[in-house]
Amino acid sequence: MKNEYDYLIVGSGLFGSVFAYEATKAGKKCLVIDKREHIGGNVYCENIEGINVHKYGAHIFHTNDKSLWNYVNQFVEFNNFTNSPMSLSKGKLYNLPFNMNTFNQLWGTKTPHEAKAKIDEQVAIYGVENPKNLEEQALSLVGKDIYDHFIKEYTEKQWGRKASELPAFIIKRLPVRFTFDNNYFNDIYQGIPIGGYNKLIEGMLEGIEVITKTDYFSDRNKFNKLSNKIVYSGKIDEYFDYKLGILEYRSLHFENEILETDNFQGNAVVNYNDANYDFTRIIEHKHFEFGKQNKTVITKEYPQEWNPGREAFYPINDVKNQSLFDEYKKLSLEEKNLIFGGRLSEYKYYDMHQVIALALTRSKKELENG
Ligand code: UDP
Repeated sequence: MKNEYDYLIVGSGLFGSVFAYEATKAGKKCLVIDKREHIGGNVYCENIEGINVHKYGAHIFHTNDKSLWNYVNQFVEFNNFTNSPMSLSKGKLYNLPFNMNTFNQLWGTKTPHEAKAKIDEQVAIYGVENPKNLEEQALSLVGKDIYDHFIKEYTEKQWGRKASELPAFIIKRLPVRFTFDNNYFNDIYQGIPIGGYNKLIEGMLEGIEVITKTDYFSDRNKFNKLSNKIVYSGKIDEYFDYKLGILEYRSLHFENEILETDNFQGNAVVNYNDANYDFTRIIEHKHFEFGKQNKTVITKEYPQEWNPGREAFYPINDVKNQSLFDEYKKLSLEEKNLIFGGRLSEYKYYDMHQVIALALTRSKKELENG
């Protein structure tokens, strides 16, 4: 029997929205549902005082893939924002990512040769041959000064456990360079949608049926009957009623403040390394879009323990959780007429461009076959 929709898409974040757009373009009928009161998943922005506030944490789009850049720009034009975070450490401000400016501010080194010599000297003292955890990894990559100033306390706040007990791969993301270049990302294309991320999602979902404040799990039998296939971007363990166990996350708590000043910190992102601050960073949202408003909105980001009632942000990809995920993944492959995808159903910390690329690949494969 033919159902009302070809695809029921559970979740209107980037994965669901790209899939919905592609399927609709291919002549399929889609219904998108989201349990939140708005579309866009974690890229959603809330307008406060005329400023797009990144409600679920700062999102900065970047990619090396020209076709992906063109893809997102068809929905909304992107500005030329580049992420150049600052770090407050032991009372002093430094440039991030670790580059010639940081090394100059930290040690007074003026040339790449001097900076490299300084790092080599420190790595020779503190580094180890085969780093087994984040602390050893950091000491082996950049030495003790950088580890103590920018990594140890930030990381321990962020993850709520000792750096010596965390997996090394977490800081493989942190770039180190020997040029005076404060651009955090190495990618060729970078920016923020002009007018905010909601424009991007609205562009993708234009003309597609969307229902918010609707939880798939409130009546999954009813929803399952609506469509031939389901595209699911929620938590994979929840889909299977947590029957093998609960996948763990690290959560975040955001505190917004509206300030009667036009410029609080002069930068979109300032990291607070020291342990005496409970938050890890302050985001000043207007700077993402070069805002000229009289007021400003800042957000302090407090890492938190996760429990099933809290928002799931960072997957804890340790051995225990990863093998539990692998078991769920096996179950998901046995499901018929079901397409999984995105950060929560793949238990993977994705950047935005990666999720979009994934949704494009999955939808292409599905639409070619189906
Ligand atoms: N990190 C750090 N110091 C910093 C920023 C990041 O030690 O000033 C570490 C920290 O362990 C964090 C990881 O690098 O979890 C990745 O940070 P990034 O800011 O790239 O990730 P985000 O939280 O923005 O996704």
